[in-house]
Amino acid sequence: MSIEEARRITTGTQVNEIINYFGKCLRCGYPATASIHVTTYSDGTESTRALATCASPCGWTGPASPTTMSGQPPVIGRRRDTA
Ligand SMILES: [Zn+2]
Repeated sequence: MSIEEARRITTGTQVNEIINYFGKCLRCGYPATASIHVTTYSDGTESTRALATCASPCGWTGPASPTTMSGQPPVIGRRRDTA
């Protein structure tokens, strides 16, 4: 990690739900939801990652591929700022 990276401060996180995600929980097989998490840093850069979360109470969360069963591009909705 460079000094610049070590100094980066997270200035905001946006969570954008992928409405048409059809993945499943890797632990229990229940349908999962997925969101794209965009983290912004004090130097103006952003990092984006997709995370899937089990819709049952099992609590599983893991990496998601932002693809959909129908091959359509992901539909992003419900934008909310958490910072
Ligand atoms: Zn689960």
